[in-house]
Amino acid sequence: MKVFVINVGSSSVKYDLYEMDTELSLANGVVERVGTEQATHKATVGAKKDETKVAAKNASAALAIVLDHLTASGVTNVAELKAVGHRVVHGGESLTRPTVITDAVKDTIERCAAYAPLHNPANLTGIEAAMERLPNATHVAVFDTAFHSELPPRAFVYALPYELYLERGLRRYGFHGPSHQFMAQSAAEFLKTDLSRLKLITCHLGSGASVAAIDGGKSVDTSMGMTPLEGLVMGTRPGDADPAIAILLGRQGLSPDAIEHMLNKQSGLLGISGVSADFRDVERAGAAGNDRAKLAVEVFVHRLKKYIGAYAAVLGGADAVVFTGGIGENSVTVRNAVCEGLVYMGVVLDADKNSRCDPKSAGGVVDIASKSAPTRVLVVETDEEKMIAREVVRAIVGPSAARTRLSGGAIPVGVSVRHVHLSRAHCDALFGKDYELTVRREVSQPGQFVCRETVDLVGPKGELQRVAIINPLRKETQVELAKTDAISLGVNPPLRESGKLDGTPGITLRGPAGSVTIDHGVILAHRHVHMHPDDAKRFGVADKSMIRVRVDGERETVFGDVIVRVSDQYALDMHVDTDEANASGLTNDSVASFDGQA
Ligand code: ADP
Repeated sequence: MKVFVINVGSSSVKYDLYEMDTELSLANGVVERVGTEQATHKATVGAKKDETKVAAKNASAALAIVLDHLTASGVTNVAELKAVGHRVVHGGESLTRPTVITDAVKDTIERCAAYAPLHNPANLTGIEAAMERLPNATHVAVFDTAFHSELPPRAFVYALPYELYLERGLRRYGFHGPSHQFMAQSAAEFLKTDLSRLKLITCHLGSGASVAAIDGGKSVDTSMGMTPLEGLVMGTRPGDADPAIAILLGRQGLSPDAIEHMLNKQSGLLGISGVSADFRDVERAGAAGNDRAKLAVEVFVHRLKKYIGAYAAVLGGADAVVFTGGIGENSVTVRNAVCEGLVYMGVVLDADKNSRCDPKSAGGVVDIASKSAPTRVLVVETDEEKMIAREVVRAIVGPSAARTRLSGGAIPVGVSVRHVHLSRAHCDALFGKDYELTVRREVSQPGQFVCRETVDLVGPKGELQRVAIINPLRKETQVELAKTDAISLGVNPPLRESGKLDGTPGITLRGPAGSVTIDHGVILAHRHVHMHPDDAKRFGVADKSMIRVRVDGERETVFGDVIVRVSDQYALDMHVDTDEANASGLTNDSVASFDGQA
């Protein structure tokens, strides 16, 4: 399978074509200065490099030039490109996985431009251009924010009025996801340890820079925030700075646009040194006696060191610190200065390995820690495009397998995590009179969404905190658990279809405005398949039929009693709870198959 990865910026179109069976790049390049008279196309095909002046008035024209070049050089042709990956900077709270692009997805990307005004509009232009040039391909958006989408609330909530999060989505999102994810996967492979067992601090140090704390493969904290401005010192961005500075400058007459420009383009290494945004230039100027350039490097190193210490505390120690990006991969002095004095967390560099480090010629990863030190220090040659291509494969293999196997009865799977449906009266009691729940993300069935608000469940034996609420409100409050949840709470609900609550046990729900104890409403949801009447006809079943569903794979399972629910509002989707999913190895990417009437 070939995957064509496109990264469209405000004036450039970068691309990379991968053969995913081998993960080899067949061709890559960039069209720079798009929209100007000086547009150039730098292209690499195998060992052959070309640089030509081109007439690229916009992203669409640039893409046409690239596709013609790929065809002319015999690498591929347009008809062969069936899978296209688009790097998109901001996916907000709802686009948290690689996603096949539809009109609704484009609308969400446009809405998220509020948090990434420099990036999302350009990314969207690239998507439109590529969909026009490659109308028969599946286009997948891969988001910089997605890898951080499982940050716990204690890491993503700003200590601002909470309503700003609920009503406007002001929170930490984090960026550079493909690079942090690539570093984590490379570290696990290099250390021959499953990612689920590793605690990692990953540092992406390029012209933009961020650091992440990764526990068991999940990002649990990261330095960039609602936008890519927060955190480390960058080429032209300040990273952490007191928000009062912007207010003060505003009061003194600087317009919001001027402040934004100062924060995005005139700060960071450039701002302090006055020399350059390029780390090499600043380092050189510092070595030649420029005090401000020296100071810029010191502030850069100090900030990073501070974050590494903070993330060691967040993780409870790290198995490895990982460096990447132009500075992380190349600067011996930065790695040395950052790691100096970190012996308390087991970090000791081998000076010789650090100075000879060349991840490119060493298979992509080098360990520069001293042999006897408890914490590894890895330098990884990052490959964000390859990571995006991997995510594209992950996104389309499930659904496309579903499509190709549809005639054989394939059914996509959705795993339902414990959740609550609330009545109006109970919503009032938990959140305040006439409280309107806010949308975090939509779920597969039309009109339903997961809310930003959560409730705690309090049972006779234990509590479960931050349980999801699914809107819209219903006539009666209903709590859907997996058996393991019920055991830890100390309740014993029966297996029921949604809405059939007679004779079910109750529980206490706790919200910010008060608690509610219901005397019935807790169920284990009976596994079921939603389907459209067309699917029902194809399978020869009707509403309320009981069917068997087969799950292939390592934990082969046949579910003998799956209820069919038919409506023209439904898309084909089987719902199982987390216990059922874990027992049969199912995830949200899985596809099961129809195995006849039960
Ligand atoms: P981008 O984020 O634009 O992709 P890169 O990851 O290529 O950027 O990183 C660019 C940064 O890396 C620049 O500040 C550059 O000076 C720095 N860099 C590249 N090579 C070296 C080197 N040998 N020593 C120090 N810094 C380097």
